[in-house]
Amino acid sequence: MAVRSTVQTVTAHLSTGEVAIPYWSLAADRDGPTLLVTAALHGNEVQGAEVMRRLRGAAMRKMTCGRMLLAPMANLPAVRNRRPHITSGPETPYGVAFGYNINRTWPGDAEGTDSARVAHALHPVLVEPADFALDFHCWPLMRATTALFNHAYPEAVRWARSTCVRFALGSSRPAGPSDAEPGDTLIRHMHRRGRRGICVELSGQYLIGRREVARGLRAATNIAIELGLLGGEPAGLDEPMVWLPDAPIESIRAPHDGLFAPAGLAPSDRVEAGQLLGHLISDRDLAVTELRAPLAGYLWTYGRFRDHVDVSLAAQHPFADEGDVLVEIAEANEPPKIEWRG
Ligand SMILES: [Zn+2]
Repeated sequence: MAVRSTVQTVTAHLSTGEVAIPYWSLAADRDGPTLLVTAALHGNEVQGAEVMRRLRGAAMRKMTCGRMLLAPMANLPAVRNRRPHITSGPETPYGVAFGYNINRTWPGDAEGTDSARVAHALHPVLVEPADFALDFHCWPLMRATTALFNHAYPEAVRWARSTCVRFALGSSRPAGPSDAEPGDTLIRHMHRRGRRGICVELSGQYLIGRREVARGLRAATNIAIELGLLGGEPAGLDEPMVWLPDAPIESIRAPHDGLFAPAGLAPSDRVEAGQLLGHLISDRDLAVTELRAPLAGYLWTYGRFRDHVDVSLAAQHPFADEGDVLVEIAEANEPPKIEWRG
């Protein structure tokens, strides 16, 4: 079965001029659904780009039907800015500029902010033809890889399960623009149009790491298999998952001020009761306190997670105040039962 792969571009007309955004278009001989995969809608969230490079390699060998549209640098001007939004400066919080968070602008606006113009350009070429959208984001390094699902869309639970990342986080936010947001997220926009999709937050911004790429690749491959685009069986469906916010979760707090020195673990890791999590070195008398897991579970948070940790180096600093949460451990549970309200 031949798979045709081409590199194509979408031209966005920004206030500063045109920008050509490249994407891979893969088409099998046989008709089937169209899977859109996007990464780097926030320019510092780039791990999904490498997921796509690898997914494309597998798809070239194993794709049996349908199309894949792979946009590894979907918000290219923000990637070139090396920051979340096209307009972000040093330490600019994500939420500061109304209309500039591209993932609150779908379906975009030709006359809007440059972010809304990028969405507007991508929409007819990539979003409209898509039956399913897998949108890779990244959150800070101290938080576990998570599939985001909305309780308003029951099928989202199934697709969150299919990603087989350790954590899923549900929200019950109403779909649609508001005073605080000029437009939708890409996935809410897909749902509103009667299409399907899921957002996966990989762990770690401003970087591409092997372990997260492997997690993202398994998620993307599973979804492509379940949509019928790739042959084979999904991997990891027998592994436990943590469904937040319902799952039992335990916070381990700093017993005193000091520097938190982690013990070589990472978010999503399994820990056993009594396992060493790290040490806290007091800034007053250099007293060292061992921090151990009070229960077995999976690391949801590992390290001090402050506001603006996603844009500020100082916020990533491991100096903790007494009472700060340093580690959160969650137990696996059953997925939520959702009644269709649509
Ligand atoms: Zn993001």
